[in-house]
Amino acid sequence: MDRNEARKRIDELKAVLNESSRRYYVDNNPVISDFEYDHLMYELEDLERQFPDFATPDSPTRRVGSDLESAGMRVEDNAEKAVGRDFAKVAHRYPMLSLANTYSIAEIEAFATRADKALDGIPFSYCCELKFDGTAICLTYRHGRLYRALTRGDGAVGDDVTENVRHIANIPQRLIGSGWPEDFEIRGEIVMPYAAFDALNRQRELDEESPFANPRNAASGSLKLIDPEEVGRRGLYGTLYHIPSDNAAFKTHDEALSAAASWGLPVSDDRRICRDITEIEAYIAHWDEGRRSLPYATDGIVIKINEFDAQRTLGYTAKSPRWAVAFKFQAEKALTPVLSIDYQVGRTGAVTPVANLEPVLLSGTVVKRATLNNEDWMRQLDIRIGDWVYVEKGGEIIPKITGVETLKRPQGAVPAPFPAVCPDCGAPLYRPEGEARWFCPNADGCQTQIQGKLVHFLGRRAMNVIAGDATVAQLYELGLARTPADLYDLKESQLLVLEGWKEKAARRFLDSLAASRSVPFEKVLFALGIRYVGETTAREIALHFGDVDTLSAATKEQLLAVPDVGEVIAQSVYDWFRDPRHRDQVERLKAAGLQFSTQGPSVQAGDALAGKTIVISGNFSISRDAMKELISRHGGKNSGSVSGKTSFLLAGSKPGPEKLKKCQELGIPVLDEAAFRLMLPSRDGGPDGEEPELTLF
Ligand code: NAD
Repeated sequence: MDRNEARKRIDELKAVLNESSRRYYVDNNPVISDFEYDHLMYELEDLERQFPDFATPDSPTRRVGSDLESAGMRVEDNAEKAVGRDFAKVAHRYPMLSLANTYSIAEIEAFATRADKALDGIPFSYCCELKFDGTAICLTYRHGRLYRALTRGDGAVGDDVTENVRHIANIPQRLIGSGWPEDFEIRGEIVMPYAAFDALNRQRELDEESPFANPRNAASGSLKLIDPEEVGRRGLYGTLYHIPSDNAAFKTHDEALSAAASWGLPVSDDRRICRDITEIEAYIAHWDEGRRSLPYATDGIVIKINEFDAQRTLGYTAKSPRWAVAFKFQAEKALTPVLSIDYQVGRTGAVTPVANLEPVLLSGTVVKRATLNNEDWMRQLDIRIGDWVYVEKGGEIIPKITGVETLKRPQGAVPAPFPAVCPDCGAPLYRPEGEARWFCPNADGCQTQIQGKLVHFLGRRAMNVIAGDATVAQLYELGLARTPADLYDLKESQLLVLEGWKEKAARRFLDSLAASRSVPFEKVLFALGIRYVGETTAREIALHFGDVDTLSAATKEQLLAVPDVGEVIAQSVYDWFRDPRHRDQVERLKAAGLQFSTQGPSVQAGDALAGKTIVISGNFSISRDAMKELISRHGGKNSGSVSGKTSFLLAGSKPGPEKLKKCQELGIPVLDEAAFRLMLPSRDGGPDGEEPELTLF
């Protein structure tokens, strides 16, 4: 691959990984499988190794995926209705990192060889544990009582979910036994056992609410519910596996966990000390099978160096400890027959084949439908109606068909043809060069596409207008709205003809539309539904160009100057604004009073530091004044001295010893620049393409 191709692919990979990560952590609504996500990440890591000058500090290879809700935004789960709230953001005492992962035993062997070499004769062992598939939690106990519970957030700052965690039955409010430190953290996972998950989904179906896709999503969505009592009813379960600490009370990780168990904390007994790779492999083989009878989901094994001294020698990368690695299990498979195939049209016109299956139990849930991705995949599988197919589900929502069992093929079965015309509007489909998917070209006439675009436009993450799919369908069918701009021409009298709508509903809808006139430009840009322009990209583009006229006149080269915008996105935005129908929409929406400039309500760079009082000390990669300005720009408050009100000390090189001492006395966290930048949006994530060292004072 030459440099140009590499740059283009790196851009594409970053865009897909960033967007997938947000959909996974924030929306609890993943769009690709974990296996695909991990393999795209490996590809990006490889390319960055080959072309190190294209590796930027904001790359997903160097950042922990964030579950933080930005202030003012609601926690939205595809299966939950407006349940969220803004949680207080609290800095972690020690960064909460991710784990390096692999699906290959050879890489576990390579990990062991690297450890041997780096530890150079120091004796050590491995502690092997289950990798629980839930959502990470960090608990602080002070004076033997549960003091605080934080989600991982973005690794540096977490959402404070203490009240919710107090309602999880197996997390103790008070410790028992003796010997616990007066103030310590313990980390683990909140999972939703299969039985609780099934009961919850049964209830949701009775209540006509969409079911959760898998226990991981259910656990992470439930942990951020607004009502702690409801959290208590969800049957969540905590399992703890790590005490981060600099103190020398314990020599090994295993000892620390045994002590935690003796204090009444829930620690799994399924961990094992392994001496060498043969024992590790035996542990993996045992649990690859054994996990099927566990009451909760696991997605792998974690192998940790057991001795704390050895852990300290190995240290950390910016994203994960060098003393641990996760071996991920291949997704479970089920075999079931295909009853029929539907062809679904999305809002962009892309047509996706979806197989209807004989229902089958897979990873604790019943699967009835699975995606076939695109025509090429169908041809490669040579799939036929009635075929028995292998279905996989790796923590993602839509299971996938990965193979056909031809030995069970019914006689006379013929390959399923891909339609030549749109199943919704009958327009002949086309397949653009270099695309794996077929598209319906009838963007202005195909009902499914039009409705899909309206639903996206109104969505909570876009214009945040209170309206569901059913309202959009009615507006379409009554001929009241075909484009976003039509919505702003609606009158109360027109809405009263909608089935079941009275004045109150009509008013509420119109009020919500009126409120959307102050939704900031970056969200309006996202709402327009330009292909490849997710929320993050929309924000970058809005901040870069400032207003829609400058943006629509931008050349491709000018678009490429926006952080995180590569060839594919630049072309897509450029083409979108060349279409006269789109320009007309923009003009009508402008006339309706929507925000098309950053001079509107959102001029601040962000609110990542809102509510934080920060003291800085030492030297940074930028001047101290620039650092203060950066803090203010993200909504934080600068303060000259450490006090009980200080949220954290931001320490550069050579920080003042007095300030450090005061922080220690008051238990105030000290972050270095790298950890601090993890709290900020990507464009403020690091100096000049160099990876900042992650050290903790
Ligand atoms: P991870 O889930 O691969 O591993 C790290 C996490 O494992 C820790 O944060 C902790 O929460 C958990 N864990 C469970 N048991 C543990 C134990 N015994 N010891 C230590 N940790 C344990 O990493 P991640 O950073 O949370 O998430 C990245 C992964 O999430 C990716 O590899 C991918 O599989 C998935 N992901 C998927 C998508 C998608 O679109 N499908 C998007 C983003 C991330």
